[in-house]
Amino acid sequence: MSKKIVFLDRDGVINKEVGYLYKIEDFDFISGVFEACLYFQLSGYQIIIVTNQSGIGRGYYNENDFHQITKWMLEQFRKNNIEILDVFFCPHAPDSTCDCRKPKPGMFNQANNKHNIDMKNSWMIGDKEADIKAASAAGIQHTVLVKSGHTIDEINSKASFILDSIEQVKTVIK
Ligand SMILES: [Zn+2]
Repeated sequence: MSKKIVFLDRDGVINKEVGYLYKIEDFDFISGVFEACLYFQLSGYQIIIVTNQSGIGRGYYNENDFHQITKWMLEQFRKNNIEILDVFFCPHAPDSTCDCRKPKPGMFNQANNKHNIDMKNSWMIGDKEADIKAASAAGIQHTVLVKSGHTIDEINSKASFILDSIEQVKTVIK
C-alpha cells in the first residue's frame, strides 16, 4: 500500500528562519510543530522533510554540519513521539543545474522512488512559493504556504491554503 505523506520544508516551517542555519544553538522550533506532527501521524500520514541547503554549495557550512544538526533535530522529534520517515536535502548553490533544488521537483521524485508514495493524497507545507511549485511539479495537489518564514506573495501564490504557521494546518488536513 502506498504511503500518504506530509512533506515539510525545514527552515521557516519547522524552525525559525535565521539564514544558513547550521548550529544547534541557533535551531529554534516554531511553536506548535510537535503537536501538528502528532496530528499528522494520528491522521494516517508519515512525515518527510525536503530542504534546500545551498549553504553547503556556497561554502558556509559543510555536509557534516548538516548531518549533525539533522541528527539532533530528529532526536527532538523522537522525544516527542514523532518519527520522521526521511530527510532529503539539496546541497547545491542556486547557479547549479541540479534537479533537486526547489522549485525543481527532484527531492519529491527521489522520495517517491524510495518510499512508494500516494502523491495525490499527500501534502506539502512550505514557506516559499518554490516549495509549492516543486510539490505541484511532482504531482502533489494539496499545498500549504505558511507565513512563519519568508515573506510571501499571497495574491500570486498557487498554494491551496495560506496559513499563519504549521500550528493551523490541522484545520485543513483531515
Ligand atoms: Zn540540488
